[in-house]
Amino acid sequence: MLSICMIGGGGFIGSHLCEKLVAETNHKAVVVDVSSEKIDHLLDRSLPWAHRIEFHQLNIKSDSRLETLIKSSDLTINLAAICTPADYNTRPLETIYSNFVDSIPVIKYCAENKKRLIHFSTCEIYGKTIGSFLPEEFRKDPKYFILKEDESPCIFGPISKQRWSYACAKQMTDRLIYAEYAENGLDFTIVRPYNWIGPRMDFIPGVDGPSDGVPRVLACFSNSLLRGEPLKLVDGGKSQRTFLYIKDAIDAVALMIDNPERANGYIFNVGNPDNEVSVKELAELMIKAYAKVSGAPASSMSTVNVSAEDFYGKGYDDSDRRIPDMTFITRQLAWKPRTPLDELLDVTLQYQHRTYSRAIERELSKPSN
Ligand code: NAD
Ligand code: UDP
Repeated sequence: MLSICMIGGGGFIGSHLCEKLVAETNHKAVVVDVSSEKIDHLLDRSLPWAHRIEFHQLNIKSDSRLETLIKSSDLTINLAAICTPADYNTRPLETIYSNFVDSIPVIKYCAENKKRLIHFSTCEIYGKTIGSFLPEEFRKDPKYFILKEDESPCIFGPISKQRWSYACAKQMTDRLIYAEYAENGLDFTIVRPYNWIGPRMDFIPGVDGPSDGVPRVLACFSNSLLRGEPLKLVDGGKSQRTFLYIKDAIDAVALMIDNPERANGYIFNVGNPDNEVSVKELAELMIKAYAKVSGAPASSMSTVNVSAEDFYGKGYDDSDRRIPDMTFITRQLAWKPRTPLDELLDVTLQYQHRTYSRAIERELSKPSN
């Protein structure tokens, strides 16, 4: 049994990891976050795992309790971040502080106290693919677009394209962790999620988040479907993503926790290369799935093209394509994703409809001033 300090453990990924830890293992989750909203259902003291989960409401930017919590745990998992693209170009300072500066003490405390660290990086660290710079006829070779942990370069746009503030900050954090490993023997594992999606991801604007907030694409499209509005395709929705069901992803993290001898010293891509679609195709699949869930005809739901500047503001840029190379994770942990995209969208949209449709109906029926 391990005591696991989960920083940012009250977020989307953290909430699913907490569920797995309390229900299927003997480990203890010591959750650190500014909010417990997404794990409140696990914190009731009458639940059978009550002695194996505790919540510490604190901001890691400025709280001396952090070192004590890391010191008294066997393993630290760092999930804390600002990680919604709408923030990268509009709040670049907060993005850089959150993804680089605030992780420095976490890494330092782990290194000084000889504690193992599992850190959440991102697939965005690779930036744009080499293929995106080549003429169409050269792009077919996988070496120009499949992303490998130990080979692919990190290709970011110019400084004025502040979209890359997140990827760049995450990259510095990965480099700092790797330097602590190389010089001081830090036991580390770095996780690179590729668009993990599922229930509890982000927020629905105006219901459990600010009405002018812009979450990641799953929540943006869910919000439009719930409100009967067209789904907005940024620059036509031509960018491609591979989507991984959160439950499959959590199985990979659990293997890393339980197999330090196979996970320490590695950076792992964690994604589902079989679930690749363009954002436009994602919208079409979500419309189909939501029609099934809500009973409304798919013909009543539509998409609309919007420019990146209108949607995100100045300084936005996009990753064209992200396909994970799966060699390391298959070889080291024998993990493979299981859930196809249509199945994971069905489950997720059932959750969105169940959780939000009444609140949205109430909001829409209010007389506007
Ligand atoms: P999330 O926003 O749901 O979770 C992050 C959590 O960190 C939030 O609960 C937030 O309150 C907390 N947090 C942020 N700053 C904090 C601070 N100063 N003190 C205390 N708590 C703080 O995001 P998520 O999707 O669960 O992502 C978790 C990690 O995985 C992040 O590092 C993110 O960059 C990385 N990641 C996720 C994905 C994905 O597909 N979901 C993709 C790439 C990378
Ligand atoms: N996107 C979109 N409409 C939206 C929200 C996002 O077309 O309402 C696009 C966005 O431009 C990007 C992709 O969807 O190409 C994925 O965006 P997300 O915010 O999920 O994060 P990313 O994968 O870029 O980190």
